[in-house]
Amino acid sequence: MKKTNRVGIMGGTFDPIHYGHLVTAEAARINFGLDEVVFIPTGNPPHKKDYNVTPAEDRYLMTVLAINNNPYFKVSRIEIERPGYTYTVDTLKQLGEEYGPGTSLFFISGADAVFDILTWKDVDEVLNYCTFIAATRPRYPVKKLEEKLKEIKELYGKEVIPLQVPGMDISSTDIRNRVNKGLSIRYLLPEEVRKYIDKSGLYR
Ligand code: ATP
Ligand code: MG
Repeated sequence: MKKTNRVGIMGGTFDPIHYGHLVTAEAARINFGLDEVVFIPTGNPPHKKDYNVTPAEDRYLMTVLAINNNPYFKVSRIEIERPGYTYTVDTLKQLGEEYGPGTSLFFISGADAVFDILTWKDVDEVLNYCTFIAATRPRYPVKKLEEKLKEIKELYGKEVIPLQVPGMDISSTDIRNRVNKGLSIRYLLPEEVRKYIDKSGLYR
């Protein structure tokens, strides 16, 4: 009998992808015994209207460069190719159909995303389609995260599972700001991605 496939989904804008994303995905892979982790760069994120998000093709390519040396990591164009706004619920539905009933999906997110989850489209459906993992992230207190998980449990009867990951106080926003100011971004993200940013002139 074929065992159930366990697939992690790491959604993000990845503008750019950095070691915080990679370490979180790897910790989830190990802790939840995942067969693979699929990175899914967003197409046109509805909640990020406050700055001009980098073209999806650049964000996709940087993600490909970043995960290249991990045989368990993949990148999907599913959200990039879907017209209109991106919603996690639609992605989970589509992936559930593509992988079929023998697959369990694990959605990997950082603590900050969990604080927003109650504002997401069709939260209850999202929680039904996957096991939702909440990774710790520096600056987002564990106590508050635990309270949030309790609230979600009371509202939807679903467990969001906390995951302790090595703290990386790195954000894409900070990396963009650093590039813009001409500061070094070495060691915050894979060297290949740093070179891509340098050559393409992104964030300057
Ligand atoms: P931005 O500053 O543009 O919001 P970001 O660094 O938060 O970028 P996103 O692409 O928004 O990166 O994040 C994608 C997912 O990765 C989210 O679930 C987020 O919580 C998680 N994540 C990002 N950085 C970290 C980190 N340093 N540690 C743990 N999780 C992280
Ligand atoms: Mg973010």
